[in-house]
Amino acid sequence: MKIAMLARNPDLYSHKRLKEAAEERGHQLDIINTLRCYMNIASRRPEIFYNGSKLEGYDAVIPRIGASITFYGLAVLRQFEMMGVYPLNESVAIGRSRDKLRSMQLLARDGIGLPVTTFAHDPKMTEEVLKTAGGAPVVIKLLEGTQGIGVVLADTERSAKSVIEAFRGANVNILVQEFIKEAGGTDIRAFVVGGKVIASMKRVGAPGEFRSNLHRGGSAETIRISPEERSTAIRAAKSMGLNVCGVDMLRSNHGPVVMEVNSSPGLQGMELATGIDVAGKIIDFLMKNAQAGKTKTKGK
Ligand code: ADP
Ligand code: GLU
Repeated sequence: MKIAMLARNPDLYSHKRLKEAAEERGHQLDIINTLRCYMNIASRRPEIFYNGSKLEGYDAVIPRIGASITFYGLAVLRQFEMMGVYPLNESVAIGRSRDKLRSMQLLARDGIGLPVTTFAHDPKMTEEVLKTAGGAPVVIKLLEGTQGIGVVLADTERSAKSVIEAFRGANVNILVQEFIKEAGGTDIRAFVVGGKVIASMKRVGAPGEFRSNLHRGGSAETIRISPEERSTAIRAAKSMGLNVCGVDMLRSNHGPVVMEVNSSPGLQGMELATGIDVAGKIIDFLMKNAQAGKTKTKGK
C-alpha cells in the first residue's frame, strides 16, 4: 500500500509510530505537510500538488490535521477523497468532531450518555443557563478549547456568573455543564479502531486539579473498562462516523458520560500506558479497508 499521512511535524511520537508500523508491514508511508499542499479545483479532475509535483497513486490517507488548521486541512483531505483515496477518517466526520456543540447534538440524538449541558448566546440568559445546567458547581468550557485550556470549574453561583460574563465579554462561544464530581478528577479514554475498543486508559489529574489532561500534569494508566463503557465508546464513534477516535468519558452516578470524541487521538500516552501497538492496529485497519474508490462521501 502507498499511504499519505497529512501531518505537519514528522518528529511527533504518533507520526513516527504510524510510519514505523506501516513500514514494518511492507507499506510506503509519506508524511505530507498539509499546509504545503496546493490544489487544482478543475472540473472532474481533482489534483493535489506538493513540492512541485503531483500526488498520485495513493491507496489511503491518514489525516492528522491539527485543530488550528482544520479549515485548510479538511479541504486537502476532501481533495484526496474526490481522487478516490481511502481516508482513515472522513473529512465530514472530522468536521463534526471539531465542533463540540455539533458533536454533542449528534451524540444526544443517538441516546448516548452526556453530562447535562447548556448553551446559549444571549448574555441576559446567564441565570437561566445556570439553572438549566443544574446550578453550581458547574464546568464552563470554551467551545474552541483543547488540552484542558478554557475549561473552568465554578464552585458557586457567583463565580459561575462572573466566569460566564467574562467569556461573553470576550465574544467566545461557551457551554455550561453539570460538574461530575464523582469522577474525582479522573477520566477514561477509549481508543476505537474500526468499531472496536482496542485500548483504554484512565487519566488522573494532578493533585488539586479536576482536569485530567496529560498536558495539565495528569498521569495515565491502563484500565479495564466496563461493558457499558465499551458500548458507549463504540456507539459514540459510530454516531460521529469516525473509524479511529479517542472517546473521553467520565464515570458518573448515572453511568458513563461522553465529554469529547477526538478524531486525531495521540498515540504516545495510550501506547506507553497500555503497551498495546495502537499504530499497528491502525495500519492493519487500513490494510483491510483501503480499496481505491471505497470512500463513501467522496468529499461531500
Ligand atoms: P479539552 O477538550 O480541552 O481536553 P475537556 O472537555 O476534555 O477539555 O475537559 C478537560 C478535563 O476536565 C477532562 O479531561 C476532565 O478530567 C475534566 N472535566 C471536563 N468536563 C467535566 C465535567 N463536566 N465534570 C467533571 N470533570 C470534567
Ligand atoms: N491531542 C491530544 C489527544 O487527543 C490531546 C489530549 C490531551 O490533552 O489529553 O490525545
